[in-house]
Amino acid sequence: MDKLISCWNVTGKCYFVVRTENEEEAIRQLADHAASAHQMTLTEEMKRKAREEARRKAA
Ligand SMILES: [Zn+2]
Repeated sequence: MDKLISCWNVTGKCYFVVRTENEEEAIRQLADHAASAHQMTLTEEMKRKAREEARRKAA
């Protein structure tokens, strides 16, 4: 049951996708990506979106 989160749906910056088995790990990896690729820090709102995204695609 992989968790998928796309950068696009969280930051709108690119189509990078993280895929892990763990929701918090997926969010952590997306945060790392946003920092290195876009010099962005995920806001609480973005993390909330990321969590929703992970849940929606988990089915
Ligand atoms: Zn990105």
